[in-house]
Amino acid sequence: MSIEVNIFNLIRENIRQLKPYTSARDEFSGDANIFLDANENSYGSVSNLESNRYPDPYQTELKKKIAKLKHVPEKNIFIGNGSDEAIDLLIKLFCYPGKDKIIITPPTYGMYKVQADINDIECIEVPLVKTFEPDSTAICKIGQDTTVKMVFLCSPNNPTGNILNQEYIMEILDSFNGIVVIDEAYIDFSGTRSLTALLPEFPNLVILQTLSKAWGLAALRIGLMFAHEEIIRFINKIKLPYNISGIVQKLASDALNNNVQKELFVQKILNQKQWLKKQLQNLSCVKHIYPSDANFFLVKTTDANTIYKYLINKGIVVRNRSNVTLCYNCLRITVGTETENKYLIEALSKFE
Ligand SMILES: *Cc1c(COP(=O)(O)O)cnc(C)c1O
Repeated sequence: MSIEVNIFNLIRENIRQLKPYTSARDEFSGDANIFLDANENSYGSVSNLESNRYPDPYQTELKKKIAKLKHVPEKNIFIGNGSDEAIDLLIKLFCYPGKDKIIITPPTYGMYKVQADINDIECIEVPLVKTFEPDSTAICKIGQDTTVKMVFLCSPNNPTGNILNQEYIMEILDSFNGIVVIDEAYIDFSGTRSLTALLPEFPNLVILQTLSKAWGLAALRIGLMFAHEEIIRFINKIKLPYNISGIVQKLASDALNNNVQKELFVQKILNQKQWLKKQLQNLSCVKHIYPSDANFFLVKTTDANTIYKYLINKGIVVRNRSNVTLCYNCLRITVGTETENKYLIEALSKFE
């Protein structure tokens, strides 16, 4: 079986046939002095940000930086308006509305199901087992159905915080004939290597990352997708022509020079994480702190709803995950600054 043909065959027929929109910047991208091809305002812009010209539809400069930083060739990179755009486009690329299915592994990130629902794709829920690892046997079995096109795995997982054991991921990669998406939004906090190294080996592997967490650029909306070039080529055909604004491309590109600052942030957060864990352990309203490879803790409490409301009254917002599969009475708490964490602990100790 040629797996490369396989990816192509997984793509929806109408998209394989699609003649994509070609923008002015697609049709001419070389050097010229006078641009009269895109109906822009040639005099300038009313903003002092020089934004009268349409931006690069493929974010070439930014991609170069990301390629270097992540050790992934540019042809294997897609940049989305947040990871959420990447999730939406992946579902659109591979899943026939009203017919195909994806597998998700609750408790996990909520956007997979929302994007599937919007696209009229059924979500088959295969809950994580007690240790919050994926049930690879069940996933592979369900995956034999050829209308199951994709499985979304999140590692480190949101909201549980744990990195998934690579052994289970490998089992799924080895036997599932659909697309395996690994969402690594929190990889920078984990001290673990990205699975991007496996991309050359598995054409059906897609890795998601983001600049929203460790890099501190959530407001810029930059999501990263790493995948086989054939997948990237088709994703580029179905994305909106100018999905990343020019200003954001420039800001993100400059920000990526500050790798040292990012590492300092990560170190600070990890130090605070240790401190926070110690303090949480001493509280009687805390029953269990789940192991975390991310910048947050899932914490089992004596009464999540009451504590959640109590904290809101003190001006502190955490995430109440009590109604989520396997997370009864759990709060998800992001590691904040030293001051914020002290405030939180002070408030929680008064709750007792
Ligand atoms: C925060 C988060 C993201 C990031 O989404 P963006 O749209 O890139 O901001 C992606 N996946 C998971 C699991 C997250 O928790």
